[in-house]
Amino acid sequence: MRPFTLVFRDRDLEKEFRKANYEKNLPQIRVCLALGFLLYASFGILDHWIIPDIEQFAWTVRYYIVCPLLVGVFFLAYSEIRYQYMYPLMVLAGFVAGVGIIAMILGAGAPGCFLYYVGLLLCLMFYYTFFRLPFLAATVLSWTIFLLYEVLVIWTKSIPLPILTNNTFFFIAFNITGMSASYSIERYMRQDFLQRRKIREQTENLKKALLDVEKSRHEAEEMAKLDPLTSLYNRRHFFSIAERELARYRRYRHSLSIIMIDLDHFKRVNDTYGHFIGDQVLQALAAAIDKLMRKADTPCRYGGEEFAILMPETDLAAAQNLGRRIKDAIESTEIDTRKGPIKVTLSMGIASLDGAEDACIEQLVERADHALYQAKYSGRSLIRIWDKSSSAEAQLELLT
Ligand code: GH3
Ligand code: MG
Ligand code: MG
Repeated sequence: MRPFTLVFRDRDLEKEFRKANYEKNLPQIRVCLALGFLLYASFGILDHWIIPDIEQFAWTVRYYIVCPLLVGVFFLAYSEIRYQYMYPLMVLAGFVAGVGIIAMILGAGAPGCFLYYVGLLLCLMFYYTFFRLPFLAATVLSWTIFLLYEVLVIWTKSIPLPILTNNTFFFIAFNITGMSASYSIERYMRQDFLQRRKIREQTENLKKALLDVEKSRHEAEEMAKLDPLTSLYNRRHFFSIAERELARYRRYRHSLSIIMIDLDHFKRVNDTYGHFIGDQVLQALAAAIDKLMRKADTPCRYGGEEFAILMPETDLAAAQNLGRRIKDAIESTEIDTRKGPIKVTLSMGIASLDGAEDACIEQLVERADHALYQAKYSGRSLIRIWDKSSSAEAQLELLT
């Protein structure tokens, strides 16, 4: 902000301020134009009493020039007129109003020519405060009117020196106090504008930061659900989905199945090709499983070289079908690695809830695990279904 003119050094900022300030001041500008018009028009009564000798001239200036001008600017303040044009128009209207009074002072005899300078002081009050003119414009306009008054009055010798001196003193005092008031008002408005702008910026930044934090939190939450090597869900998240699906199962009694998958002799892959290639095989396998899944199914890396698939609304036959498709697809494909293509086989155990039966998720997983063990035990690269009669659960039931 420049100290004397108050104008911002940054031109864009200045432009932004003027626009914002104009919009903020517009209601007051309208009221002041209306008030200025009413006062200017009502002072015609004084013309009749104080300066009757030039009453016709005064009324012509008042009602044919200044009042229509004020009315015109007043209506323009209701149009879409831009702030750059509004202030010059107001300065023009103010200037014409002032010059009109000076003309009356010059044309009138005593006492009007001594007294009407008060009308000019009233104009100054409007310029400096009510009109909300920029400080610089109000100052230039007021001092111009003052100087015009002085020059013309001295030139035409229409007022005796003591009265002119008195009026001059009042004029100067009015100008100084008016400048001070206008300066304070505008400085306050500019500071207020800067503060609001800063608050707006900070709010925007805060909003952005909150969005970033929210995004990071969401990302972190998503990451926490995934297994870093295969990008499948991890076991923890698998169980939370499984719990939800089990609740749905208990409500709607649609079948629910689980497949447990374990790579056969995976240790050999690691031993032969190295751990890094083993990782690559696990990633390829996870990608293949993910690709073969239906949308509603949830595959996860259960741990090590074991995978689990949760299949809601899927009965045993459908689960077997899907298991077969996965097994065939993987076993018939060679996995490309840096150390050449690798073929793997896998074993599967499947367990289902058929709608009538009840069990918890751990039980269901245990059953599928048990079937998987059977597949391994029977020679690997096999699919086995949990069979109640061969399970530990059944034996426990027999004992009790
Ligand atoms: P089986 O047919 O009986 O399942 O034999 P297996 O060798 O697959 O089973 P075992 O439990 O003996 O060995 C599992 C191997 O899986 C051992 C371990 O090093 C490997 N493994 C577990 N997690 C990872 C992993 O993240 N990356 C790699 N490369 N290997 C892993
Ligand atoms: Mg294993
Ligand atoms: Mg294995």
